Amino acid sequence: PQEHLTQNSTQSTSQNTSQGPAHAVQAQPFDYLIVGAGFAGSVLAERLAASGQRVLVVDRRPHIGGNAYDCYDDAGVLIHPYGPHIFHTNSADVFDYLSQFTEWRPYQHRVKASVDGQLVPMPINLDTVNELYGLNLTSFELEDFFASVAEPVEQVRTSEDVVVSRVGRDLYQKFFRGYTRKQWGLDPSELDASVTARVPTRTNRDDRYFADVYQAMPLHGYTRMFQNMLSSPNIKVMLNTDYREVVDLIPWRHMIYTGPVDAFFDHCYGPLPYRSLEFRHETHGADFLLPVGTVNYPNDYAYTRVSEFKHITGQRHHQTSVVYEFPRAEGDPYYPVPRPENAELYKRYEALAQARTDVTFVGRLATYRYYNMDQVVAQALNTFKKLMSQSQG
Ligand code: FAD
Ligand code: UDP
Repeated sequence: PQEHLTQNSTQSTSQNTSQGPAHAVQAQPFDYLIVGAGFAGSVLAERLAASGQRVLVVDRRPHIGGNAYDCYDDAGVLIHPYGPHIFHTNSADVFDYLSQFTEWRPYQHRVKASVDGQLVPMPINLDTVNELYGLNLTSFELEDFFASVAEPVEQVRTSEDVVVSRVGRDLYQKFFRGYTRKQWGLDPSELDASVTARVPTRTNRDDRYFADVYQAMPLHGYTRMFQNMLSSPNIKVMLNTDYREVVDLIPWRHMIYTGPVDAFFDHCYGPLPYRSLEFRHETHGADFLLPVGTVNYPNDYAYTRVSEFKHITGQRHHQTSVVYEFPRAEGDPYYPVPRPENAELYKRYEALAQARTDVTFVGRLATYRYYNMDQVVAQALNTFKKLMSQSQG
């Protein structure tokens, strides 16, 4: 079944192993070397192992789970070291797939924005406008209100266009302009419409952050779910290891790469911009600090938002842990930056990626897409199907 797999430089490696001293890798090459143990890498590892392939997963971090990794802090509170991760999807396939590896705790995320000295619902809804302006509008009247303040734009192109064409300039400035400038180091007019379009505007009183059909947290955490995904004897996991340290030492037939695409090609066309964050974690001797899972600060402070894990995980504990997010230009890559010039640059890397028949690129960093967890799972499941059909074809 592996005949389809591309041969590569491992031929020389297998020669090395037969020459060298008693290497551990006398056996068959791994069918797959997977770089990254996040959602992209772990879903593919699980699927491939279940179909009988031998897989080596390598991650340079000391843990599995990628940015979705969770763990207990010193106080014993379950936290997300890389910022709050809330699972939501409209895909029954994705939800059913992950349900093989975890039970769920239903959870609907709620966010408030700190604006003009008040904490009001975000996304903007009927209560947001009424509380902010001291009004008593109905949903119908709010629709008229939005229509009266909206600034029509011929073509919605940027993240500024999306918001001002719907709710007008005042709400745009109160909720979006400052937050976006902080988060991205760019004005909303310099970012694709898709960025602020992630946040809807509502005329009803629905104050959930997401409207997806499935909204739930893994009952025992993400890391436990990843452990279950990676538990097959066909999967070996190597942590604290940059793939470059082992790529020529361990024989493999095909690589799946889920790290930043520009780094794979030694930044040969220049660095692709990724936005980073610095996280400040704190534990407090209180039951709860915040009224909801996350409070956004569009206009004050250097951080964008603060999130409280116990709201999100449902854990009961006499202390509580929160995380503040400080956007950074430098540091670990967390977000692709959706704007036309970056899409152009990515296209050049994508062409190099497509020419590599021995490597498949999957995930948020490797395909430079601002994907949520469920979208990465869907992308990985599709990639698995493609790899299988190639092997049969
Ligand atoms: P990653 O999780 O980044 O995994 C890639 C892995 O590759 C990393 O572990 C990295 O160490 C490893 N790697 C990279 N280069 C190398 C190398 N050279 N050698 C070895 N290993 C390497 N999504 C949601 O659906 N809901 C949310 O609420 C949500 N909140 C988020 C909050 C924040 C602050 C951030 C940054 C993201 C959030 N996301 C959320 C998005 C979510 O994190 C991603 O969609 C998902 O984790 C991407 O998975 P991935 O496997 O593509 O990448
Ligand atoms: N955004 C904003 N104000 C907010 C929340 C979001 O301006 O209160 C904008 C901002 O540009 C942000 C984008 O909408 O980066 C997407 O928000 P989301 O909460 O989806 O960001 P993520 O959770 O991916 O960081």
